[in-house]
Amino acid sequence: MRAPTNLFQQIVVFVLSACVWIPLNQASVAATNPPLAFVHVNVIPMNHDEVLEDQTVIVRDGKIAEIGPSATVHVPRGTRHIESKGKYLIPGLTDAHVHLQTPTEFPLFLANGVTTVFNLDGRPAHLLWRKQIADGDLLGPTIFTTGPIFGQAHTGEQAVHMVDEQASLGYDGVKIYNQVSKAEYSSLIAEAKRKGMLLMGHIAREPDFELTLASGQSIAHLEEFTYTYFNPQHDAINSHIVYDEARIPGAVQLTAQSGVSVIPTLSTYATIVEQATSLDNYLKRPDLKYDPPWIFASLQPAANRYKNGFKPEFYPRIRSSLALQRKLLKALEDAGVPIMAGTDASDVGPVAGFGLHDELQEYVNDGFTPFQALQTATVNPARYFRRSQEFGTIEPGKRADLVLLEQNPLADISNTRKIAGVSVRGRWLDHNELAALMEDVPAAYPRQIKQLQHELEANPAQAQRYLDDNDPLDNLSATALSGLAAEQGATKLRLVVLNIRRSDPKSALVSEEKINGLGYTLLNLKKYPEAIAVFRMNTEDFPQSANTYDSYAEALFDSGDVAKAVANYRKALEVDPKYPGAAGAQEFLAKHGNDQ
Ligand SMILES: [Zn+2]
Repeated sequence: MRAPTNLFQQIVVFVLSACVWIPLNQASVAATNPPLAFVHVNVIPMNHDEVLEDQTVIVRDGKIAEIGPSATVHVPRGTRHIESKGKYLIPGLTDAHVHLQTPTEFPLFLANGVTTVFNLDGRPAHLLWRKQIADGDLLGPTIFTTGPIFGQAHTGEQAVHMVDEQASLGYDGVKIYNQVSKAEYSSLIAEAKRKGMLLMGHIAREPDFELTLASGQSIAHLEEFTYTYFNPQHDAINSHIVYDEARIPGAVQLTAQSGVSVIPTLSTYATIVEQATSLDNYLKRPDLKYDPPWIFASLQPAANRYKNGFKPEFYPRIRSSLALQRKLLKALEDAGVPIMAGTDASDVGPVAGFGLHDELQEYVNDGFTPFQALQTATVNPARYFRRSQEFGTIEPGKRADLVLLEQNPLADISNTRKIAGVSVRGRWLDHNELAALMEDVPAAYPRQIKQLQHELEANPAQAQRYLDDNDPLDNLSATALSGLAAEQGATKLRLVVLNIRRSDPKSALVSEEKINGLGYTLLNLKKYPEAIAVFRMNTEDFPQSANTYDSYAEALFDSGDVAKAVANYRKALEVDPKYPGAAGAQEFLAKHGNDQ
């Protein structure tokens, strides 16, 4: 049986280009940057709804040093002049909901003016990148990150222990997910507050709406309101949600009173509706070519979780949800609830960097002024992170994260896409440099995977070290290994797996679960012989695990071999009559056991 869904493992094969090991993300960026002068620029400082015309902004040592009318500000010798006449300078943008995959995607954020991100399911590699970027050793957006998601029910004691562990590792916040129990919720939140951690997440179903808000936990996804406040029966399949606009004021009032922030991820939900109802259209989006290959593959018809997850009878429901969320968003903004723009990139569709502009456009479409929309990606997140003194506005002393736009975003929010250049911590990247960095991304992934496949064979220990630092969500490794099986056959994969285990018998890369996941990746691709070979290999390597036979049986049945499927479900039950998939196996045997 499948592990609880890891959709990232639904990966595909793609053409591999020539192999060049990329020196890891533009090493040694720490070189001192010369001071910058934006002369005759229109500044949108974001501390007030105004445009300061014909200003000179001096950047020195990574910070904004001075701002004033161009007639009065002296530009020191040795300063790099940035041609800015008629252009508009805004603070660097924040995407407050991302799932960082690898540093390979960082140029996409920067090229889109996104200089800060909030990563909502952290691993040690994310902490490493956070430090490298802050130290100037890696070029990328400033990172805030929660620890790994709290995604299972625990006792209060266990939850407190986990919070302490995350705090000691240095994560900025905790991320709550649906399954957190009522029993643990209050202790978890209290401990996170005691440790000064940011509180963010879904509205866990047991603690429910009112307790979550009263606890001061900020909310990711407006969808979460529909599953709780608008769902009186709290049923898991959401059949009792009442998309009742008359209830919006009640939800807004409770939210406003609580003081929490909300990350709507509304354009993200809109893409979910589009993926479900009109996937062909969605896949025409030109920015999807920048997605990591495993994400791109997961969006395709055979693997798309929304296309396959929502049958046509659900379409009216998800459309009603989107309509309700749009009205709810405007009402929350009107009530003064701090809104933070977030996209879920790169997870369910929105592409790193690009998605944020879609989100800002969505807010304006829903009735925000362009200034209010910009607040959601500048001052609001800075305040949420308790770093207003560091970023979010253009004022002396703030970090020099700046975006120079060709046209005024307060006149038309889509002008945030017209980027003339970006200052990242005082390092100036003009339009051409950003374009070059960005255009290398689609080719960088296959290079990286090809190189990784080579390293896994030639030097597994080194490959493991590389993955520890560059593959926090295990997507790169899964793509490389499933690619080996799909392109060169299961025997090749077998050899590489043995090689990895020789180098490290306990390697997590090729654990029972990982190999099982690879089998499902291949099964999703309808690569039956390869999938079957991989699952069989797992039964041979882990003969005491009932689940290996269960998965093998599933693949056999999918490929049409009922007799062997029956034999392997029997074997699974023989190994462990009470394994988690036992009921399903018995059901299968009741149906097919006498077919032979
Ligand atoms: Zn997310």
